[in-house]
Amino acid sequence: MAGEPQDDCLFCKIVGGHIPATIVRETETTVAFRDINPQAPTHVLVIPRVHYKNAAELAAAEPGIAADILREAQVVADEDKLESYRIVFNTGSGAGQTVWHAHAHVLGGRGMEWPPG
Ligand code: 5GP
Ligand code: ZN
Repeated sequence: MAGEPQDDCLFCKIVGGHIPATIVRETETTVAFRDINPQAPTHVLVIPRVHYKNAAELAAAEPGIAADILREAQVVADEDKLESYRIVFNTGSGAGQTVWHAHAHVLGGRGMEWPPG
C-alpha cells in the first residue's frame, strides 16, 4: 500500500536500519544521509520515512512531509556551511532516477553550471 515500507526498496531498508548509511540528520518524518557516490563535496539525500515512488506522489499524499524535506535540505546546507546549494528531484528513469523511493539530492560545495547536463 502507498506509504508502507517496501521489502525490495533500498531506501526503506536504510530507514529501517537494515542497510548502513552515513546518517547526518533524522526527524520524525525524514532521514538525511550521505550519497554513496557523491557528485559534490556535499551530496546528501533527504528522504521521507514513508515510501512513495517520487516527490510528486509524496507531495500529493503527504504535503507536510514534502515540505519537511525542503526544510531539512536547508538545515543540511546550514550544517555544511553552504552559501549556495542545489536541490534535485530526479523523476523518471529518463531524468536519472534509479531508486524508486522519493528523495531530494542536496548538492553543494563546488561551482555548478546552469542548465545542468
Ligand atoms: P537517483 O539516481 O534515483 O536520483 O538517486 C539515487 C542515489 O542513491 C544515487 O545518487 C546513488 O549514488 C545513491 N545510492 C544508491 N545506493 C546507495 C546506497 O546503498 N547508499 C547510499 N548512501 N546511497 C546510495
Ligand atoms: Zn522505500
